[in-house]
Amino acid sequence: MAQVTEAQVLDALRAVLDPDRGADVVGLGMISGVVIKDAMVQFAIEVDPARGPALEPLRRAAEEAVERLPGVTSATAVLTAHREAARQEGPHRHAAGRAGGQQQGGQQQGSRPLVPGVGAIIAVASGKGGVGKSTTAANLALALRVNGLRVGLLDADIYGPSVPRMLAISGKPTSKDGRTLEPMENYGIAVMSMGFLVAEDTPMIWRGPMVQSALQQMLRDVHWGELDVLVVDMPPGTGDAQLTMAQQVPLAGAVIVSTPQDIALLDARKGLNMFRRVDVPVLGIIENMSYFCCPNCGHRTEIFSHGGARQEAERLGTEFLGEIPLDIAIRETSDEGQPIVVSRPDSPHAEAYRSIAARIWEKLSKDAGGGPQRPAPRIVVS
Ligand code: ADP
Repeated sequence: MAQVTEAQVLDALRAVLDPDRGADVVGLGMISGVVIKDAMVQFAIEVDPARGPALEPLRRAAEEAVERLPGVTSATAVLTAHREAARQEGPHRHAAGRAGGQQQGGQQQGSRPLVPGVGAIIAVASGKGGVGKSTTAANLALALRVNGLRVGLLDADIYGPSVPRMLAISGKPTSKDGRTLEPMENYGIAVMSMGFLVAEDTPMIWRGPMVQSALQQMLRDVHWGELDVLVVDMPPGTGDAQLTMAQQVPLAGAVIVSTPQDIALLDARKGLNMFRRVDVPVLGIIENMSYFCCPNCGHRTEIFSHGGARQEAERLGTEFLGEIPLDIAIRETSDEGQPIVVSRPDSPHAEAYRSIAARIWEKLSKDAGGGPQRPAPRIVVS
């Protein structure tokens, strides 16, 4: 069967009315970023962020209208910020501004859906696996919480979800309304991970589109509630799947985690470039496993030419957010499901995570006027 055309999609959407404005969504100019790939259709509905949560029925009606077209097996509609929300923001400002400004340009950039109630969404990413990205994401999320913010952690590392184990959360999320999942919770933060939905020993072979829709669902079909910040633990690497995810999420910024040798190997730079390509501000680099702390005598050894990240960050024009040593206590506490920020709050490592978290929040508040998705957000700087 021939692939459906954009004109056919728009025709189908003309049957969908905006209940408050009494006209159809196409006529009102609310549809943008139509992407058609074989039998799958994606598009964005631009709305005023204040109306976001109330428009879920409209979003579903739009999806259903497109799914009724012959040759379409699935339609995904995302609500995005109203174009007026772009106001005077430049390209490196907040997500709502970018979404509004770029949909004109079309499909390459994609649209960035809003997640109702969630202030800033930040990605924790790395150029490659095994550098301690998940450990850093979990400790940072907890440190943001300790600093007084309402925090969520989305484990988007769907190739190897480790957040359930690190935060000692097991069981399956439930749903109160039969449609949205309630996030799991521990240590005062809301958590969602593919690991809750799929058994740990299940081999997962995710292809690009599946990765994308899993992330979309974990953002959109989870009842996150009111959050100041949602930390997204990204899958490692800088391939297509990661790039798509970076495009699909309304990110306020990204933090790159790297080890000193990873910096030397330029993997961190790839991560940085990936976010720049999709116009997400890079908040800075964290050097993990920066130096070795002997558990017996406390002696500090610089195994991997410590300090490279600071110089590299400078050269790349991004901020060096801080360093976390290679310390068995960090690994053990994570493995035990009690990350060091909560289990040893007085340790220098917990202090390091807290101060990095404070700096990240300070930057977000400054860059985005307190939160990237809300016009008048609550600003909490610890
Ligand atoms: P990634 O998400 O980048 O694949 P993880 O966070 O899963 O990496 O970390 C890989 C391993 O390294 C884990 O066993 C973790 O406990 C350990 N680890 C991470 N950071 C540190 C650190 N600073 N000191 C000691 N061990 C660490």
